[in-house]
Amino acid sequence: MTGTTTGTTTGNHHDDSAFPPVGPLAAAAPGELLLTGVRPYGEGEDVKVLIRDGVIAAIGADVEAGEGARVLDFDSLILLPGLVDIHVHLREPGREDTETLATGSAAAARGGFTAVFTMANTAPVTDDPAIAESVWLKAQAIGLCDVHPVGSITKGLKGQGLTEFGMMADSQAKVRMFSDDGKCVDDPQIMRRAIEYARGEDVLLAQHCEDPRLTKGAVAHEGPTAARLGLGGWPRVAEESIVARDAIMARDYGGRMHICHASTEGTVELVKWAKERDIPLTAEVTPHHLILTDARLETFDGVNRVNPPLREDRDAAALREALIEGVIDCVATDHAPHGSEEKCCEFEHAKPGMLGLETSLPIIAKEFVLDGPCDWRWLAKVMSERPAEIVRLPGHGRPIAVGEPANLTVVDPGRPWTVRGADLASKAENTPYEDMEMAVSVAATVLRGRVTALDGKADA
Ligand SMILES: [Zn+2]
Repeated sequence: MTGTTTGTTTGNHHDDSAFPPVGPLAAAAPGELLLTGVRPYGEGEDVKVLIRDGVIAAIGADVEAGEGARVLDFDSLILLPGLVDIHVHLREPGREDTETLATGSAAAARGGFTAVFTMANTAPVTDDPAIAESVWLKAQAIGLCDVHPVGSITKGLKGQGLTEFGMMADSQAKVRMFSDDGKCVDDPQIMRRAIEYARGEDVLLAQHCEDPRLTKGAVAHEGPTAARLGLGGWPRVAEESIVARDAIMARDYGGRMHICHASTEGTVELVKWAKERDIPLTAEVTPHHLILTDARLETFDGVNRVNPPLREDRDAAALREALIEGVIDCVATDHAPHGSEEKCCEFEHAKPGMLGLETSLPIIAKEFVLDGPCDWRWLAKVMSERPAEIVRLPGHGRPIAVGEPANLTVVDPGRPWTVRGADLASKAENTPYEDMEMAVSVAATVLRGRVTALDGKADA
């Protein structure tokens, strides 16, 4: 049931048919599911959406389901394509005490996601086909979300020898994206080789932009707040110098390059510069870099430590504008579970990272749609369509239309809830939004016709 990609590629040898086949473990749900009282993209009147064998079979006011169909009745809720997150850490293998493929998949389903890409900084590192395949197959057996493993660019994330992109791309996991995320591929010669290799295999490289020589001992954004609090500063130039270098490499060597978690005003300017020159560069931004700043560090609460760090108002404002305008392509959570002993400690010793999967849609919907200038179609673009296009993922981020795979999210913009880390599906509790009220809920998530979350519960 692989669909056609909306990407602009032509002539690559890893075409759609080379994506992970929807095999026995990833079967579409047989039978019929009828969603009533939904408005696609929040537009027009309520309609019914009939899903048959995992595919949208009919959309309209008078659609009828056959006998035995499951019916989910909604009251004028918003229907979006299933969300896609190209940057999460599900911690399996290696740190199952903080998250597993099962708990991470549940968090994804509850957050409205139908596909996520889990980073390679596991233990062992996802640097060979066998590890990638085990992640893909295990998550398919869980069945709550399509979990695509990201392969590492260098063996063991050591920044030196390249992994076998081709073998991982051709494995059962059909790895599409490579990243040393958590670490920067800072050696320019290694990065150059990676870009040339990735171009040949037509896979995407995602760079964690951080020149490590500029961030030794850094735990907070380098600025007045860190200076006052006596925290080691992580300067904007550590990110921007790598963004600039990699944009120029993408220009000169032609590989597709993606910027992970853009965090500064200058990164926005550089991405814009690259796009104006048709350099194949894309970029993501996290919800926390859009709405939080280093003002939160005053409490020294380790939950606010993240990499790249929370920055200043002007950075967040530039990132919001760039996301609205399309300079920044998409939202990605960088969902990073950590155990309480890794977060409830001295700020300098807290591990960087925050949970994101269950709070991302509510934050983006509130900030940009309910209280902002954007509509639900825009949200579908930045949280589903563009991320799927960037990775050339078939079947997800598709239009809500007859014949398309039924990967869908039903959003309730009028049902508030309060974030409690202990109540999240994630095994870890390190949310920076503890006790915050979210205005928007995910009412249901549907993966190939199967209801994977309903009313805040996964695996309905
Ligand atoms: Zn990163």
